[in-house]
Amino acid sequence: MATSIAAGKTALIVLAHQERTSFNYAMKEAAVSALKKKGWKVIESDLYAMNFNPVSSRDDIKGKPKDPKHFKYPAETAEAYKEGRLAKDIVEEQKKIEKADLIIFQFPLYWFGMPAIMKGWFERVLTLGFAYSFQTLYSEGPFKNKKALLSFTTGGPQSMNTTSGLNGDINVSLWPLQNGSLNFCGFKVLEPQISYAVAHVPQEVRVEILKNWEKRLETIWDEKPIKFLPLQDFEGFSGGFSLKKEVEESLSESKYAPTVGQNLGKPLPPDSQTKA
Ligand code: FAD
Repeated sequence: MATSIAAGKTALIVLAHQERTSFNYAMKEAAVSALKKKGWKVIESDLYAMNFNPVSSRDDIKGKPKDPKHFKYPAETAEAYKEGRLAKDIVEEQKKIEKADLIIFQFPLYWFGMPAIMKGWFERVLTLGFAYSFQTLYSEGPFKNKKALLSFTTGGPQSMNTTSGLNGDINVSLWPLQNGSLNFCGFKVLEPQISYAVAHVPQEVRVEILKNWEKRLETIWDEKPIKFLPLQDFEGFSGGFSLKKEVEESLSESKYAPTVGQNLGKPLPPDSQTKA
């Protein structure tokens, strides 16, 4: 039987669903119970229940802006972070992230992405200086010792989200979310938990999805993350953050692209955003 070394660790579950009767809420509840059974401490951010404000604005900093005439959100929030002047709700979420070893984002897929309330959580909480800087980003990001995963439900079936399906390859859809948000801040990204067409499958399939999710969570901490190219493979700011020539040469023989994004004009690596 697989053993886990997760006891004593902390998980944060960020949920974006309006309804407690929803399948997303059931997935969240299943995660809380499965993780607690294994000795995890679980913190929650139920964004709709909290009435979380997703709109970034000047109100996100306390006190006088450095440059009120030309308010620059990233610079002003970075200063406010350093000086302890960020809005209370942002600070509360940042503290939860600091405590968490693992973050699970639970949401219904909306327009190929996360619901606006969760997008707003990313925009307001993951501030410059706290979640990234131009020196500490991607594999060197501040959260490089934490793991994160997307657990989402869809309207369409799996067949619709393939290289020949109407929505196209799910690996392409996932790249901006998993690379541009999670990997960007350094998180080790675990395989996404995708629950397809939950409103259209029979009840016994939904029960099975919940059971499999709970089973997966028993050993979630032991899972290997999805592969991305490390920051060291790229030039720095002055080199335009482009792939180092010697790295590109070393990859030239392989049949597939290194990643969905750094594809070098080659065929995309199959399942690279869904399998570690
Ligand atoms: P629900 O409808 O709440 O639940 C599904 C079923 O599960 C219900 O029958 C419910 O009773 C049942 N259930 C609840 N709890 C349990 C339980 N404990 N055990 C068993 N069954 C249970 N889809 C896409 O694929 N791509 C998109 O880009 C996309 N964009 C969208 C944009 C918008 C604005 C909206 C509103 C929807 C979009 N959708 C899209 C569809 C959306 O992703 C689905 O409606 C959503 O994923 C369904 O999840 P839910 O939790 O709301 O399901």
